[in-house]
Amino acid sequence: MSENASTGTAGTIAFLGLGHMGGPMAVNLIKAGHTVVGFDPVPAAVEAAKEHGVPMAGSAAEAVEGAAVVLTMLPSGKHVLDAYRGVDGGPGLLSVAAPDTMFLDCSTINVDEAREAAALAVEAGHRSVDAPVSGGVVGAEAGTLTFMVGALPEDFDTVKPILEHMGKRIVHCGDHGAGQAAKVCNNMILGVSMIAVSEAFVLGEKLGLTHQALFDVASNASGQCWALTTNCPVPGPVPTSPANRDYQPGFAGALMAKDLRLAVNALESTGVEGRMGHLASEIYDAFAAGEGAARDFSGIITDIRDKSGK
Ligand code: NAD
Repeated sequence: MSENASTGTAGTIAFLGLGHMGGPMAVNLIKAGHTVVGFDPVPAAVEAAKEHGVPMAGSAAEAVEGAAVVLTMLPSGKHVLDAYRGVDGGPGLLSVAAPDTMFLDCSTINVDEAREAAALAVEAGHRSVDAPVSGGVVGAEAGTLTFMVGALPEDFDTVKPILEHMGKRIVHCGDHGAGQAAKVCNNMILGVSMIAVSEAFVLGEKLGLTHQALFDVASNASGQCWALTTNCPVPGPVPTSPANRDYQPGFAGALMAKDLRLAVNALESTGVEGRMGHLASEIYDAFAAGEGAARDFSGIITDIRDKSGK
């Protein structure tokens, strides 16, 4: 990978996918002195990126030509694999890129898809890293994302300084696919624990407990977890949690439903007996089929309460 002598940073970064997350991440790279060329097929995303000072190419292939790093922040694994391979006779990015290009995928995708993308990139003479994030749009804007990285050790060393301009915690989780594996395991814990905390609050209501009393006990006892102490699903005990602003996200129900579907895929492909993960996925799919898609995932408590009768 070539170095940019004027900034001391890696050469041009082709940034594909300038949506809610990619837009602010690209801006942070530019602020840090990187040369970035963006591409997104949606005109509104292109306009927003340009307004924020991100130079845009006319096609993905144009952005990738001559780039040292191809950073993707796309909706799904299919988008990533299609972009790498090419669709409808169009050129795949792997064939357009110069030899030894770093393919850095920050999208949240299936573990198997991440491994497939890495194998394709390596077979085509490139390098590959999966680096999904947590921290949401707020973290993307503030440059405080957590990156979970699957990479060979030398590739991790190469991408770490780039990721540090978009995030504050960069964790090397293992080889190709390990970043996605860490993300899917963490979010399965989160989905299951939010349902458990919400059921406990509704049960407490039925049993005549105040929210504060249950919080004061559970947050200092063995029920303690992030879903309770940071993202508390009832208003009051944690004033900053989305429950205090009518469940404005935060972390939207649609994204939790997506991540749990990835968890279920991983449970199935590995043969793990993951009944809680499967159930959490069903529960969040139903939540995200309605208004829950755009609400914080802690709004699941309202569904549980509604279904619990008077
Ligand atoms: P988004 O839909 O806002 O942005 C994705 C962008 O990719 C869109 O602008 C789309 O037009 C573009 N795109 C699609 N195909 C493309 C292609 N071939 N080339 C270039 N651009 C293409 O989604 P987002 O919220 O920014 O999320 C991106 C990824 O980050 C997803 O995988 C998501 O699961 C993950 N993620 C999102 C959040 C969040 O809070 N939004 C948090 C953590 C992780």
